[in-house]
Amino acid sequence: MIYCLAWQRTAHGEGGRIPAVLFRQQPLLREQYFADRNCKGFRSGFPSSIFLSLSLFSFLRGLVNGLEVQRAYTPITPVNAEGYFEVLIKCYEDGLMSQYVKSWKEGDSVCWRGPFGGFPYSANQYGELLMLASGTGLAPMLPILQYITENEDDETFVTLVGCFRNFENIYMKPLLQEQSRFWNIRAFYVLSQEHSLENLPWSFQKNTHLGRINEDVIKSMVNTCRRQPYVLICGSVTFSEEMERSLKAIGLKEDSYFIF
Ligand SMILES: Cc1cc2nc3c(=O)[nH]c(=O)nc-3n(C[C@H](O)[C@H](O)[C@H](O)COP(=O)(O)OP(=O)(O)OC[C@H]3O[C@@H](n4cnc5c(N)ncnc54)[C@H](O)[C@@H]3O)c2cc1C
Repeated sequence: MIYCLAWQRTAHGEGGRIPAVLFRQQPLLREQYFADRNCKGFRSGFPSSIFLSLSLFSFLRGLVNGLEVQRAYTPITPVNAEGYFEVLIKCYEDGLMSQYVKSWKEGDSVCWRGPFGGFPYSANQYGELLMLASGTGLAPMLPILQYITENEDDETFVTLVGCFRNFENIYMKPLLQEQSRFWNIRAFYVLSQEHSLENLPWSFQKNTHLGRINEDVIKSMVNTCRRQPYVLICGSVTFSEEMERSLKAIGLKEDSYFIF
């Protein structure tokens, strides 16, 4: 199950970041605004602009059977989103935080601590970006994509490669489709458990590869770029290790990629 959540700002911390060391209690305002077969959404109060950098993450604190759990989640909203932020949370059957997230109802409050990390980016810093994302590893890519497309002076080309099990599991399809209409953005999908391209909508058939992402797929993606891209990688540890191995095998140096 995937949950997509949004928090609106409250009066706390007006004009600045929430101190990284503090947990802040934020009420959930709205549930299920985000509709996908596996997605639910929530909306809640939140202070002023806290995500001043790209692809930061925050810790969520939950209590599960009397046990305190903390897990990191990455906002998918643009850095300039007014009054709220959203996260995409995949819930695992036996996951601890997952149990807590699944119990959320409108009007509940949840505790966040952050933001931390972030990807240092400025407009036109890289001629071309290649984003390799698996599952919810898509999350940190979305604010970067939107940051680029919202700035008409940023002429960075972006090729996003999203790896999912099947068509239904592609997260944030409408947003990805909308973003890929920009002249400088391309989205490709690698679906490991989809059996036929004919089952997909026409608009997805031409930019989807069936099977697992591997060195050959990455090489062909890099070859379709106009120049050697700077590569962003996000997914499970195994996914990131595989991507790094493949990039090195096709000749990219360590300063040509960033692993979230
Ligand atoms: C910097 C950072 C940012 C992150 N951002 C996000 C985000 O935006 N959205 C998001 O959904 N997650 C994100 N994660 C992962 C998240 O922090 C949790 O690890 C995840 O939600 C599972 O927590 P849990 O307590 O429910 O599961 P846990 O109790 O930690 O794990 C229990 C079981 O859940 C399953 N499980 C847990 N993680 C995985 C996995 N990656 N793949 C397959 N099975 C798994 C396994 O069966 C595991 O045995 C991020 C992690 C980091 C480090």
